[in-house]
Amino acid sequence: MNYIELHEQYKENSLFGRYITLKNIEPIISRFSNEIIGQSVLGKPIYKHTIGTGKIKIFMWSQMHGNESTTTKALFDFLNLLHSDNAISISLLSQITFCFLPMVNPDGAELYTRENANKVDLNRDSIDLSQPESKLLRKVFDEFQPDFCYNLHDQRTIFGAGDTKKPATVSFLAPSFNENRDINEVRIKAMNVIVAMNEELQKHIPNQVGRFDDDFNLNCIGDMFTFLKSPTILFEAGHYQDDYNREFTRKMIFIALISGLKDIYENDVVDDKKAKYLQIPKNNIVFYDFIYKNVKINYDSKKIITNFAAQYKEELFEEKIQFNAYIVEIGELKGKLGHIEYDAKEAMYLDEYDNIPKINQKATFYLENDIKFVNGIKK
Ligand SMILES: [Zn+2]
Repeated sequence: MNYIELHEQYKENSLFGRYITLKNIEPIISRFSNEIIGQSVLGKPIYKHTIGTGKIKIFMWSQMHGNESTTTKALFDFLNLLHSDNAISISLLSQITFCFLPMVNPDGAELYTRENANKVDLNRDSIDLSQPESKLLRKVFDEFQPDFCYNLHDQRTIFGAGDTKKPATVSFLAPSFNENRDINEVRIKAMNVIVAMNEELQKHIPNQVGRFDDDFNLNCIGDMFTFLKSPTILFEAGHYQDDYNREFTRKMIFIALISGLKDIYENDVVDDKKAKYLQIPKNNIVFYDFIYKNVKINYDSKKIITNFAAQYKEELFEEKIQFNAYIVEIGELKGKLGHIEYDAKEAMYLDEYDNIPKINQKATFYLENDIKFVNGIKK
């Protein structure tokens, strides 16, 4: 199957970039049957969409972290496919009944924050259920009794896939259900689907799939649902080279969704792909957005050669996300990689302040007066 062409065909073109709010998704979800299951802290509707007649029940939710929108885009691309007369859609809907909550945290989405309007991380609230959004997610889970849960997120640009020196463009996790991180039949089911998705993704992004850390925390929704015996898969949409809008990654999530679901209904053999799952390289914190090497600075009237790194902060300004680069580390930067690396070849660092790079200072500077870097990038 040509997944790339399939994605081009069903991509929801009204969604683009990182700032995806309720205003963006309401015109799309209103094309489908939907139900408002309740309200967020600030009274925004939380939508549910159910489709399919199959006996396998799959529950998917996205944007429980408001600023993690890539999987929401991919979910609507996938919904367009499901609502078409494509043969894939017909077989998926005959085998599976889907329940979607495409935006669990609409307040956070609008504010472009991870947390909800009460500044609570909804993915650390699955025991207390202190927030209306957490209660609604749990209520849908209890009523629907899913055979699989898809917990859809974004991860930062800092992650690499093991020692591959490549960014973790997509990472997965079959979460733990106990401190011991034992592997039971519930986790095996999630691992099998992850292995199928990884096999397809390797054709598109070789060595750019990672495996998220499985430390146990029952307050995380995936750990809780695994504990409640529903196989749960954590998706983390991550960085791809030069793709800060995450439009390429969105495509990879779409491909992962379909290849994993096909595996669920095509393989009724009880498989155990634990070993293959554990071969997926672990997520490793190795990347900065920018690294500048061999920069000369005048420090205490001595000239020294050093390196420094800058990282984008995503800042919401007038309904747009700005990527503002700030200096975050200075020194050896051992084992660190930059998505963009620049070798200054011992050129002198100069800036508008006192000509020494400092943490939290904007990455706007000169090398030897003639090369200018603005917001991290060479002009
Ligand atoms: Zn998240």
